[in-house]
Amino acid sequence: RLGNATAKAELGRATWKYFHTVMARFPEKPTDDQQDALRSYIHLFARLYPCGECAEHFQQHLTKYPPQVSSRKAAAGWACFIHNEVNAMLEKPEFDCNNLGKFYDCGCAEDDEEEDE
Ligand code: FAD
Repeated sequence: RLGNATAKAELGRATWKYFHTVMARFPEKPTDDQQDALRSYIHLFARLYPCGECAEHFQQHLTKYPPQVSSRKAAAGWACFIHNEVNAMLEKPEFDCNNLGKFYDCGCAEDDEEEDE
């Protein structure tokens, strides 16, 4: 467990940025294998998250709200929802998931030009 609240918040911000960016880059029409990969990734991510109490809470959220991996939209929407669950637990304001848009643009559009043209 990270004892220092500032370090814990900083880790959280960096992780959420990365987590939502993964969802924003997930294929719009994933294969079964890609869906399995994301589902496994999310469960392992939750198990291995370095803040122990956070990992414990997050695994409980996952049990209640299993990852949605059928498409980019489903995955990004699910991640926004689950982050809002954490926000609610921490008494933080709810994020409007309609505003996800370009919020998590990684600057790697050249990787899939056909999708971003
Ligand atoms: P953060 O919640 O870190 O969000 C960063 C930015 O993301 C926001 O400024 C906003 O622009 C955007 N954002 C906010 N909500 C959403 C959303 N729903 N969808 C998309 N983008 C959004 N801290 C604890 O004290 N206890 C815990 O149990 C705990 N569990 C955590 C579990 C996980 C998996 C993670 C990644 C973090 C956890 N944290 C926990 C840390 C906590 O969620 C915050 O990251 C930290 O408190 C810093 O909060 P913040 O207000 O800067 O914004």
